[in-house]
Amino acid sequence: MIKLMNILKNYLKVKRIQKYSPEKFRRWQNKQLQKHLKWINTHSPYFEQLKKNDLLKAPDLAQYPFMNKQIMMENFDELNTKGVGKEEAFRVAIEAEENRNFSPTIGSITVGLSSGTSGNRGIFLVSKEEQSAWAGTILAKLLPNGFKSKEKIAFFLRANSNLYESVRNKKIEFAFYDLLDHFDTHIKRLEEYQPTILAAPPSMIRQIASAVSENKLSISPIKIITMAEVLDPLDESFIESVFNQKIHQVYQCTEGFLGCSCSHGTIHLNEDLVYIEKEFLDNDRTKFYPIVTDFKRRTQPIIRYRLNDILTLKSEPCPCGSPMLAIEQIEGRMDDLFILKNKHNGNLEHVFPDFVRRACISASENLKEYIVMQHNPHDIEVQCLVFDETKRQRTEENIRTNLNAFFQQYYESPKITFRAYQENDRTAKLKRIKNNMEVNKVVQSAF
Ligand SMILES: [Zn+2]
Repeated sequence: MIKLMNILKNYLKVKRIQKYSPEKFRRWQNKQLQKHLKWINTHSPYFEQLKKNDLLKAPDLAQYPFMNKQIMMENFDELNTKGVGKEEAFRVAIEAEENRNFSPTIGSITVGLSSGTSGNRGIFLVSKEEQSAWAGTILAKLLPNGFKSKEKIAFFLRANSNLYESVRNKKIEFAFYDLLDHFDTHIKRLEEYQPTILAAPPSMIRQIASAVSENKLSISPIKIITMAEVLDPLDESFIESVFNQKIHQVYQCTEGFLGCSCSHGTIHLNEDLVYIEKEFLDNDRTKFYPIVTDFKRRTQPIIRYRLNDILTLKSEPCPCGSPMLAIEQIEGRMDDLFILKNKHNGNLEHVFPDFVRRACISASENLKEYIVMQHNPHDIEVQCLVFDETKRQRTEENIRTNLNAFFQQYYESPKITFRAYQENDRTAKLKRIKNNMEVNKVVQSAF
């Protein structure tokens, strides 16, 4: 059982650190990082070995090797500090998934399976202490009134997990909704439950907002939190207009709780849990891959772990005063970038999704939902839902004009084809901009 005291302790700590000045915060963070690296060097056989071979002179992070899912899985047994074997962990996690047992454990360690194609799935290990730290942090950052008022949280997940079960006491109540359940079931349960906080992927919240706007559901949450999918500005403005409030975002993946939005709606990376290095992708140094070192996770060290997500830095400081790095937007995964031929030098180049997104959204007020996908370097498909069908043709023409105007500046323009809108498969994450090219994987290795 997770101790409430431990959750509270972490909760208060997070609240305190958020008020540090930038200088004090960096000093504090550096100390945490050094302490963590020292600990890892003597408890993780993988790092112990590196140290023995004189490859690490702790606590200098720059000497540590980079890590990704593949490296982490290849060295699983030696990396973790609890002596858990990869085969056993996989067996326990897969068995649990098949039986819909949401709390697989080995001893007191929770085992989690990350998504990915078979053969490319990751295993994550979390201890009880890490769970309560996680719970305390998420509560401190997301509860609008702290522990002062009672909250009822409707939480939509692909599968329940005992990570979330850990957050429950007299003041906070969670109701879990399985994303795979029928939408009518959700509507009935939400109407009855009347959540004060709604947390779900943006595609689900968009559907709920539609139901509210059509008077099929009546709820008045005081806070709305999106997670697990890229929040498209089109969905954001629709949801905000229905519920008449700003939406908040959580940036989380199996690799950790990486960021969330503040009271001003800016996403700040959780630099009180992780140290972030930036691998810049553009000349302006605004877009980057985060390289994550989680200085709270001891069971399974995450050291210089390179994520495939593209983040854009915020150019202006956030008025909330938080010392933690402010992000303009989470753009999505590298594999979803379009790849087009530069018309000047013939090279294949990545196209950041925000350009495509802006070209579509600014085309017409009549655009309700959209998906743009690339099938090959010469073909782009656009699918639209519109509010007014009589104006569909005009809307599509505007989108074509906008996209062409953008492409023609730099690239050999691909052919743009409009097709009927395909509703998203409920088992998959909604991506409004996606790359379907097989060649993508090949081209990527060249970058
Ligand atoms: Zn802020």
